[in-house]
Amino acid sequence: MKTAEIRQKFLSFFESQGHTIVSSSSLVPHDDPTLLFTNAGMNQFKDVFLGFDKRPYSRAVTAQKCVRAGGKHNDLENVGYTARHHTFFEMMGNFSFGDYFKHDAIKFAWEFLTSPQYLNLPKEKLLATVYAEDDEAYDIWLNDIGLPAEKIIRIGDNKGAKYASDNFWTMGDTGPCGPCSEIFFDHGEEIWGGPPGSPEEDGDRFIEIWNNVFMQFNRDESGEMHLLPKPSVDTGMGLERITAVLQHVHSNYEIDLFVDLLKAAARETGVPYNQETPSLKVIADHIRACSFLIADGVLPSNEGRGYVLRRIIRRAVRHGYKLGQNKPFFHKLVADLANIMGDAYPELRERQDLITEQLRLEETRFAQTLETGMGLLEQALADNQKVLAGEVIFKLYDTYGFPYDLTADICREREIELDEEGFNREMEAQRARARSAKSFKANVQLEYEGADSAFKGYTDTTAQAKIL
Ligand code: ATP
Ligand code: MG
Ligand code: MG
Ligand code: MG
Repeated sequence: MKTAEIRQKFLSFFESQGHTIVSSSSLVPHDDPTLLFTNAGMNQFKDVFLGFDKRPYSRAVTAQKCVRAGGKHNDLENVGYTARHHTFFEMMGNFSFGDYFKHDAIKFAWEFLTSPQYLNLPKEKLLATVYAEDDEAYDIWLNDIGLPAEKIIRIGDNKGAKYASDNFWTMGDTGPCGPCSEIFFDHGEEIWGGPPGSPEEDGDRFIEIWNNVFMQFNRDESGEMHLLPKPSVDTGMGLERITAVLQHVHSNYEIDLFVDLLKAAARETGVPYNQETPSLKVIADHIRACSFLIADGVLPSNEGRGYVLRRIIRRAVRHGYKLGQNKPFFHKLVADLANIMGDAYPELRERQDLITEQLRLEETRFAQTLETGMGLLEQALADNQKVLAGEVIFKLYDTYGFPYDLTADICREREIELDEEGFNREMEAQRARARSAKSFKANVQLEYEGADSAFKGYTDTTAQAKIL
């Protein structure tokens, strides 16, 4: 079953269970300054859960574009290292707004995953977690679904504080919150990793495919929990992860959609196609995040969302360089992506020219300093250095346009540590220079404005910092 077919099956299944199909919202959250990018299906329904917004339906189903490359959820550092994390991914979700609760949510998930009419997954490879104190969910899995007790794992309060564990979801310090029940698939003992809650849970053997959040309480300012009169459900299933399971592959990067992108990345970087090459995976991942972000109106810049986008583009370009491609190549993958995902997301085709051009410009800009910057870095590491000096990290950042995390990405590959404190000291020194430049400017301006109104002072603080 192809990715597109699985996406459609999910939507149709929940539609047949009375859910309204709602389109994905933009990756740029509207009216929510607390959120960098849309990172879950529930984001667009936040006000519905809070009771501020009413919809003509009480059940909804979506395929939501998500980016986790900053803010509370940041999976950027996982890309290329785990089989299951992307910066951009699609989260399939079903939602109940004060309608059904735990019993139906678990029943729907189980039916969709295991019924021969839908995904027909082998039941013995599935496990579920519940929140440690959630006996209700535990009983549903055990008695209504018939999952053996050893496959139901209570995840408690592992960080010491009450309700601090992964299995208790909160929207913020106050507001709706509640226990989760996550569903895992066992990819088999030849892969390293342990079940959730075990010391090896970070491995890739047991992969979380679906999270069910039961919004049961409202937490007030004093931290006290009150039962919600009409509890709700929010779920999220990773489309790429479930597709990997159905296509009998272990890694998300081996599914149909990614194989096509990896091939395109190999073609444009001029290396042989190989599913194991981490740099190809990074490039295939990043072209999705960058294209979808630009399609939703984000442009590369030096701050906020635009800077996250710039960092992702530069990381991709550096991985291309690592493979031996020092000419602009990244933008050429936009056409492939539009072919692969344009039916589900028409904005990719509608804005294909804009996306291509923005990426081409950004790549060309970075190409001017990448090689020299890499030269500086190699030189600094020439004598088997184990730590990269703060001054070098800063120079790469300030003169050659290497964001800190880009340098960190290179150093991680070579097991070299970064002198982060030294870098921060340099940053602070630069800020101080900029501040004194500003007061210098103010003084000069006063003097000059008195004598000659033509001088209006410097306008660019970084230029001033360099002049001083
Ligand atoms: P993990 O523990 O594997 O990082 P999570 O608990 O952070 O996942 P949730 O916030 O529960 O993930 O999101 C719901 C679902 O979305 C997950 O069960 C998973 O299938 C999918 N998902 C989450 N993060 C990613 C990602 N970075 N790339 C691909 N799929 C993801
Ligand atoms: Mg995560
Ligand atoms: Mg998890
Ligand atoms: Mg989860």
